[in-house]
Amino acid sequence: MANRTLELDDTLYQYVLDHSIREHPAQTALRAATASHPLARMQISPEQGQFMALLVKLMGARRTIEIGVFTGYSALSVALALPAHGRLLACDLNDAYTRIGQPYWEQAGVADRIELCLGPALETLDARLAGGEAGLYDFAFIDADKVSYDGYYERCLQLVRSGGLIAIDNTLWSGQVAAPATTDDTAALQALNTKLHADQRIDLSLLPLSDGLTLARKR
Ligand code: SAM
Ligand code: CA
Repeated sequence: MANRTLELDDTLYQYVLDHSIREHPAQTALRAATASHPLARMQISPEQGQFMALLVKLMGARRTIEIGVFTGYSALSVALALPAHGRLLACDLNDAYTRIGQPYWEQAGVADRIELCLGPALETLDARLAGGEAGLYDFAFIDADKVSYDGYYERCLQLVRSGGLIAIDNTLWSGQVAAPATTDDTAALQALNTKLHADQRIDLSLLPLSDGLTLARKR
């Protein structure tokens, strides 16, 4: 059917990769360095990284936020799309993960654009709001613990400017959002998806890209 999103089998997915991916060598190397990690599936796909980079460039974003860094592939993708004076506030709890990525941020020459903030991201965002940073950011990417997504969303909605964009990852959760929830993560994503659909503070698109990527533009 032409009027709905295609299902990608392995052959067509490989075609998409072969005909679109343009990685910096440091991105390719970071994916290779993460591939053997037991949690490697947490990393965003290269086509998603490239899409987010395109959004950042289209917006002319300069101040950006990431919640959930892991080994730093999505952070690297966004940082490479920023202008030289652009900044990414990168929030994570676990420096054993983020340490893996930092040499690749250096290799790409963008480490100075990334401010890594280790600690519970809700606290980091609250501190930024208390410091007067509401409305100062252009773009935010939410990809940490799912039960806190609503809290991250509400804080990002304050931190981004009018016209700013919040990208929320895993909103289709392997398809589990379409069935009765059996986990707290699924229930949290379902509640957020329902809330976003009715939320008049934003313009909305739920893209069936990777594991589901919701785009919310602050009105
Ligand atoms: N965006 C990353 C990438 O492309 O590689 C993947 C992020 S991974 C799915 C989720 C990350 O969220 C983990 O690195 C984890 O340490 C972090 N995280 C979990 N709970 C958190 C919290 N309360 N505050 C900050 N980071 C948290
Ligand atoms: Ca994710």
